[in-house]
Amino acid sequence: MIKIKKFVVNPLQENSYILSDETGECIFIDPGFFYEEEHDEIREYISENNLKPKKITNTHCHFDHIMGVEFLRSEYQIPLFAHPDDAFWIERAIDQGQMFGFDMQPVNPIDALFKEGEKVKFGNTELEIFHVPGHSPGHVVFYSRNNDFLIAGDVLFYGSIGRTDLPGGNHQQLISGIKDQLFKLPDETKVYCGHGPETTLGFEKTNNPFLT
Ligand SMILES: [Zn+2]
Repeated sequence: MIKIKKFVVNPLQENSYILSDETGECIFIDPGFFYEEEHDEIREYISENNLKPKKITNTHCHFDHIMGVEFLRSEYQIPLFAHPDDAFWIERAIDQGQMFGFDMQPVNPIDALFKEGEKVKFGNTELEIFHVPGHSPGHVVFYSRNNDFLIAGDVLFYGSIGRTDLPGGNHQQLISGIKDQLFKLPDETKVYCGHGPETTLGFEKTNNPFLT
């Protein structure tokens, strides 16, 4: 049984997730924790639930999804996993922040790059990784076949899709990635987005104006 805990964090209202299973092991996905109160909330959640943090796995490395990486590294001594094509965003963390008016601290390089066919593993859990570029060149999504859910980052939102005007963005690539990879999965798949509420693939197939 996988438990998904969502935190809406930082001034960009980014969704950060903690996934845990019956073993007590957990992973962080897209930690955007920015404020001291957000750090406290995480410490509390981890200790109250007796969780053992294993790693950080990012869908992509835009600044609002990596603001909490160094906090987690120093708090729990865990590595950051991400796709190699998004490594340049980590190097540009401070510039990225400035573009949006934020004082970002430097973020150290990715510790482990996702390889073709690799899965995210913790406890008894395995998540498949799909590379879906377009919002960002190294954007991946995490899929649980057994539990029918998808962590979609900024690829797909309730009624919308990710912006493609940032460096490395590509609108056509994003649309075909969603249609060719994600829409092949079951309609009932629940989608946890990088911003905003959850949705399902079936709902987006019929209602999303960018994809119908
Ligand atoms: Zn993004």
